[in-house]
Amino acid sequence: MYRGRLAPSPTGFLHMGHARTFWTAQCRARNAGGALVLRNEDLDAQRFRLEFTDAMLEDLRWFGFHWQEGPDCGGPFGPYAQSQRRHLYQAALEKLRAGGWVYPCRCSRQDVLRALQAPHAGEEGPVYPGTCRPKPGAKFDPRPSKPPNWRFRVPDGETICFVDGCFGRQQFQAGRDFGDFVVWRHDDAPSYQLSVVVDDAAMKITEVVRGADLLLSTARQILLYRALGLEPPAFYHCPLVTDKSGARLAKRHDALSLRNLRAAGVTPETLRQSWPL
Ligand SMILES: [Zn+2]
Repeated sequence: MYRGRLAPSPTGFLHMGHARTFWTAQCRARNAGGALVLRNEDLDAQRFRLEFTDAMLEDLRWFGFHWQEGPDCGGPFGPYAQSQRRHLYQAALEKLRAGGWVYPCRCSRQDVLRALQAPHAGEEGPVYPGTCRPKPGAKFDPRPSKPPNWRFRVPDGETICFVDGCFGRQQFQAGRDFGDFVVWRHDDAPSYQLSVVVDDAAMKITEVVRGADLLLSTARQILLYRALGLEPPAFYHCPLVTDKSGARLAKRHDALSLRNLRAAGVTPETLRQSWPL
């Protein structure tokens, strides 16, 4: 049975860019006669604010979203807020450590930038140059005084392929398109890559629908699925919504927040009809 998900982060008000991607997710779940899960991605303690969670649920309902499992209605794979699922991410980190998939890294972002001759920034910053990557068989330097980032060691040169439901065949080369990436941060929080893989697997999501800005993240996540012995779901990445000048809507939070549009008297039907499908 098809299981899709909406996974908003309550770090601001929902805007049109989110709504459009989520609408695609809902349509695909409905067309498949499947279930839709709402997951609150509230791990980012610095940016997360409780008022945004309430607003998020209200805005989603106003727009016409319906989910069968979620933080408000429960379900068999709860809890549906990431802040309550830390033990699962911790267990996954232990598994990655035990399998030798990760190593501790104490480089700052600045260190990584400095170590590169010609930095080219990706969505997670520059490709990590491997400064702390241990030689095969080497023991980690424990230095317990300062907690490290834990980085996933990518298989250099391997091509990661997947067929995207929207964009078709995708391929990225580990070590060139992306480097060793952080799965656990020095401030003791799981990374987006780790938490999302753990949750999508645990919630038995069969298809992940999200924005095309995450295509490269999907390559990283496929490596995490493999390391954790989990089956990856199908992926459907939506083209990013841009305005007439080509700027991403996600950058224009306030003007196009569902809150403001609603206050201005715009209806969800009008918003949906404005999308070229
Ligand atoms: Zn390092």
